[in-house]
Amino acid sequence: MDYLETEDDVRRFLAMCLDPGGGRTTRTPVELTRLLQQPHLDAVERHAPQLATLRKDAEFRQQQADMARQMWADGLAAWIHGEKVSPAALADPEMPTGQDLTALVLQAGAAFTAAREHIDECDVCRPNMRLPELCVVGQDLALTAANAVTAPAPADAEPEPVDG
Ligand SMILES: [Zn+2]
Repeated sequence: MDYLETEDDVRRFLAMCLDPGGGRTTRTPVELTRLLQQPHLDAVERHAPQLATLRKDAEFRQQQADMARQMWADGLAAWIHGEKVSPAALADPEMPTGQDLTALVLQAGAAFTAAREHIDECDVCRPNMRLPELCVVGQDLALTAANAVTAPAPADAEPEPVDG
């Protein structure tokens, strides 16, 4: 794209997105992060790789937040229909609730296991990287592993201690 050739071009384009002038609608930087298309992101991140790290981190946390909200919503729906969601159930992986804190912890564990396995065979990813810093493939694998987890616990998970 010609208008995204140099760093100055990219900056000018984005500044125009924020404020097109002539009384046209302005945008906030937050709105801009939601509007930018892949070619724009690529152009920005070619000149400012640190922004790619921030973007991936934000996208990863957004997915986590969406997952946590879904679990909350499932718990709420269960409660509305009179199904008991007790603190004991949240701590006990044997309880077939499937939408609780235990599941969240297991999902995080599955994500990190998948990430570790990926790092072993990836040329880009390094063991000291946090999840949002992994390459796209690594993040995909981790998220897929997390999404595949449903309570009760898989066989290799450590059960939480349950009060007697
Ligand atoms: Zn990787």
